[in-house]
Amino acid sequence: MLILTKAAMIHAVTAEFKGKVSFIPTMGALHEGHLSLVDKGKELGDLVVCSIFVNPTQFNEASDLEKYPRTVSADLRKLIDRGCDMVFLPDVSEIYPDRVDTRIDLDLEGIDKPMEGQHRPGHFQGVVRVVKRLLDIVDTDFLIMGQKDYQQYRIIERMIEKLDLPVEIVMGDTLREPSGLAMSSRNARLSAEERDKASVIYAALKSIEKNFRSGDPVELVRKAWSRLEESGLEPEYIELVDGDTLLPIVKSRDYSKVVVAAAARLGQVRLIDNVIIQ
Ligand code: AMP
Repeated sequence: MLILTKAAMIHAVTAEFKGKVSFIPTMGALHEGHLSLVDKGKELGDLVVCSIFVNPTQFNEASDLEKYPRTVSADLRKLIDRGCDMVFLPDVSEIYPDRVDTRIDLDLEGIDKPMEGQHRPGHFQGVVRVVKRLLDIVDTDFLIMGQKDYQQYRIIERMIEKLDLPVEIVMGDTLREPSGLAMSSRNARLSAEERDKASVIYAALKSIEKNFRSGDPVELVRKAWSRLEESGLEPEYIELVDGDTLLPIVKSRDYSKVVVAAAARLGQVRLIDNVIIQ
């Protein structure tokens, strides 16, 4: 596996590569969820490239950035074992060099406003900025991102459309612990007991899914909210939105694709998850 730290190098290699390139951007602390995206990348492309970069511009809390787990050597080992071909491991000055204006001002038509947008000011600007920069550097055919961050996925999909970028975005399923808890780098900061408790998020989302067509959305959300609180979590939001526009849904029957998404804090750790209701 080739490890490159310089933007110019990875650009040259990916631009000259004759076959299809799959690219998986990550912030490291890799788990099976990330590695499942590598598997998808291998199915689709001839060259699989991952990046590991803890992007400072997408953190709205300095302490979250500081405490974000960093496990680079274990990550590289996992990527080698999984058959990743190339890793881009830049430092901050390589992604945000003084000489390059990497800021990007894009009208996302409101999909950046609900859910995470309400609770993490500036977060999606940072995500759009880093992904655009990474796509300028890595000349890829496929960009593979997880459903786990559904709103992020939709925003990047919209960015690609709006900027008419020659890349196909592909969604990978959310990988979960046996308890149902969505795998996340942040889970490393939970105790065994907390991990157990945190599985209530998925259970609550699944119960909204199950009762969605017959129940009142407001009531379903209220029940899920109490369930999280009873397990010692502090919900930030539980929202039922149209899967495309991310606008709140009003009557269950009027939508073909609905997403129910939640964020909750457990101690110092903020967790998110979602379920697509077809
Ligand atoms: P991150 O390192 O958290 O920025 O995530 C990098 C990519 O992995 C994003 O596209 C995430 O949506 C995806 N991802 C994170 N957790 C999971 C999971 N449990 N299953 C599948 N993909 C995931």
